[in-house]
Amino acid sequence: MSVTHTLEADVLRRQDPQLADILHGELDRQSTTLQLIAAENFTSPAVLAALGSPLANKYAEGYPGSRYHGGCEMVDVAERLAVDRAKDLFGAEHANVQSHSGSSAVLAAYAALLRPGDTVLALGLPYGGHLTHGSPANFSGRWFDFVPYGVDAETGLIDHDQVRTLARTHRPKAIVCGSIAYPRHIDHAFFREVADEVGAYLIADAAHPIGLVAGGAAPSPVPYADIVCATTHKVLRGPRGGMLLCGSDLAERVDRAVFPFTQGGAQMHTVAAKAVAFGEAATPAFAAYAHQVVANARTLAAGLAAQGLVVTTGGTDTHLITADPSPLGVDGRTARLRLAAAGVVLDCCALPHGDVRGLRLGTAAVTTQGMGEEEMVRVAALIARVLRGEGESHTAREEVRELAGGFPPYPR
Ligand SMILES: *Cc1c(COP(=O)(O)O)cnc(C)c1O
Repeated sequence: MSVTHTLEADVLRRQDPQLADILHGELDRQSTTLQLIAAENFTSPAVLAALGSPLANKYAEGYPGSRYHGGCEMVDVAERLAVDRAKDLFGAEHANVQSHSGSSAVLAAYAALLRPGDTVLALGLPYGGHLTHGSPANFSGRWFDFVPYGVDAETGLIDHDQVRTLARTHRPKAIVCGSIAYPRHIDHAFFREVADEVGAYLIADAAHPIGLVAGGAAPSPVPYADIVCATTHKVLRGPRGGMLLCGSDLAERVDRAVFPFTQGGAQMHTVAAKAVAFGEAATPAFAAYAHQVVANARTLAAGLAAQGLVVTTGGTDTHLITADPSPLGVDGRTARLRLAAAGVVLDCCALPHGDVRGLRLGTAAVTTQGMGEEEMVRVAALIARVLRGEGESHTAREEVRELAGGFPPYPR
């Protein structure tokens, strides 16, 4: 089943033309604009086929072999396959593939290891911590006592001295490493050492880089962290969802933290789609993809820096770049809106130095489309032209349409 088949299914067109139009409109948007949102990607037609399969009908509370519902013979096989593939792919003793999202996976990790009121050390939100790392608007900030560490205002790099000092002072029950906007590799060995020194658990929230880890393009947190939380839909290119990896010692606590503590029935169509994605991620083609994602990000970062933007940490090790556009005469918010009008879709983010809003870009989606470093040079120049307000905005929109048109995300 190809994506075209899924989206043009006669059934949907005939029964609900209104919704069929919406799906086509979105496919058209994704195909004619540039997806530089660092958390997004294009899943394969095989992943989409699993998501749109009759497994969506099945209730499956519990785990393979011990379910609260009958009729789980086939979905049990699917979940065991997903778990085995995840364990192989990441060299983990245990995997839980039921988390509905990255945030649910973090919630489950906290539930497995912490009690309400415990102290947790995590990257502060202004420096790229996720909502689940202690935001007052999130359960994490309300139920735990978060102590934030930061990045060096000059270099943009995690302030290791501060992490060590805060850990010694506050004796947290857990330390979280992981970010929504950190462009460099995280030094997991360092965090493990500090956690051991103060008797804390180490939770790696690898939602962003886990796909690079799968492809051998980033160091793995698995040997260092007590629990690794991740999403399956970012660079990893699977369905929207979460997962947890841990050692056998924590397997039962992690499983019980997911179900029944924080979730009900698993979404078996998504679990099956995760199995498909893990299978894809284990191939040499995916390893080549992951390395190309990083090469593209480095080229894009260098291009943006050459155009005058201030790239945080001076570059990137990953798929992700954050940059300050203000030297080109625009703040982050205006920059995002101008780029959106030209069909370049990306996010704003906080920047390390003060309250400046910057831009966050990623290369996972455009690399899946087949774009390479040549295209990244072009994209950097195009972004700079739009930010400087040079030329007509419809000219930039046409260039984006033409560029994207050469790299269709799905075969028509
Ligand atoms: C994306 C992300 C999450 C949350 O994932 P959702 O699926 O949106 O809930 C959690 N932590 C980090 C570090 C992330 O980047």
